[in-house]
Amino acid sequence: MNTAIDYQQLQRQYELEVYPKRDVTFVRGEGCRVWDDTGKEYLDCAAGHGVANVGHCNPAVVEAIREQAGKLITCPGTYYNDAKAQLVEKLASIAPDGLNRSFLCNSGAESIEAAIKFARATTGRTNFVCANRSFHGRTLGALSATFNHAYKEPFEPLVAGFEFVSYNNIDALAAAVTKDTAAVILEPVQGEGGVHIGDHAYLQAARRICDDTGALLILDEIQTGFCRTGRMFASMHAGATADMMCTAKAIAGGLPMGAVVCGDRVEISIGSHGSTFGGNPLCCAAANAAIDYMIDHRLDEQAASLGENLVRRLSERNLSKVREIRGIGLMIGIELRTKARPFVMQLLEEGIITLPTGATVIRLLPPLTITKDEINHLEQRLVNVLH
Ligand SMILES: *Cc1c(COP(=O)(O)O)cnc(C)c1O
Repeated sequence: MNTAIDYQQLQRQYELEVYPKRDVTFVRGEGCRVWDDTGKEYLDCAAGHGVANVGHCNPAVVEAIREQAGKLITCPGTYYNDAKAQLVEKLASIAPDGLNRSFLCNSGAESIEAAIKFARATTGRTNFVCANRSFHGRTLGALSATFNHAYKEPFEPLVAGFEFVSYNNIDALAAAVTKDTAAVILEPVQGEGGVHIGDHAYLQAARRICDDTGALLILDEIQTGFCRTGRMFASMHAGATADMMCTAKAIAGGLPMGAVVCGDRVEISIGSHGSTFGGNPLCCAAANAAIDYMIDHRLDEQAASLGENLVRRLSERNLSKVREIRGIGLMIGIELRTKARPFVMQLLEEGIITLPTGATVIRLLPPLTITKDEINHLEQRLVNVLH
């Protein structure tokens, strides 16, 4: 590798830092593995923060990007495009019944922003009910729907009209939603909040409460979508269908993209929203290839069985440092009795990439293409560190 250039020094000098950095420079990825500039190999059990569901540099995605890059990279939303037509049809075919028209954008936060605007435009109402521990992104609208006070406080005043109630509490939700509520915004499984799984009865009740009051239901499937939890979308476990389903992260095999998949109630007038890059042919082609790969390789079933196995095996070990393990598919939170960060750092040292969430939870979001051998290796390392 090139040791003549100190990339970390360049970034320390020239990057406006917003991230707590780890001391590693990644230069290559393939499947579940990534390599740093010294040639050290890592098992990426975070999949680039839940993005690489089909693995890093999935050959089908790489080929689709190469081919589309040679044909057409950019095309404004004011024109029709073949790759985009195929993608919006595909999204309708894999989304829960009733969600059949998509707005395409470039990130998770952008999909939440769009859903907030669409909800206000559709209902003529201003207010939103969100959950404690929620995370919906870092832009001002998405931040307004996010619970963590530390993320919000430096940037106030945020968008007005957002209220928070405890998650998985049907009575609290019913009490908060009124005739002024434009939408309820929920994650079917709270990821950043520590991997808390929404009860089926809770998500079904959210649907009912919205129907009773005329509010819309926005489900944030940005992290839970695209087979992560063992179904194409996590809300399918509960059979609770949103009016708007926000997606991003894994949608385009690693390229930046988001989509709001909408039901019939959603109305937005022409000219009232848009995005220069949203739904560009390059990202659409990558998304088409990534989604086809998920379907063809049954990554939903793969995530369900591998995840269930891993959680059971780890639970059977009665690891002394572990308080509780919560998991659905390959979205797993290991809650420790002490702070998670030192263990995340130790695992990184040993070549295993995980994510801390909250103070005490180690989050696992590996590529859904992870092999049995790779899962066994992960289990070994976790047992070593957490016994
Ligand atoms: C990552 C994430 C977001 C924000 O997505 P960005 O692409 O980082 O803007 C929103 N909601 C959930 C549930 C997420 O996991």
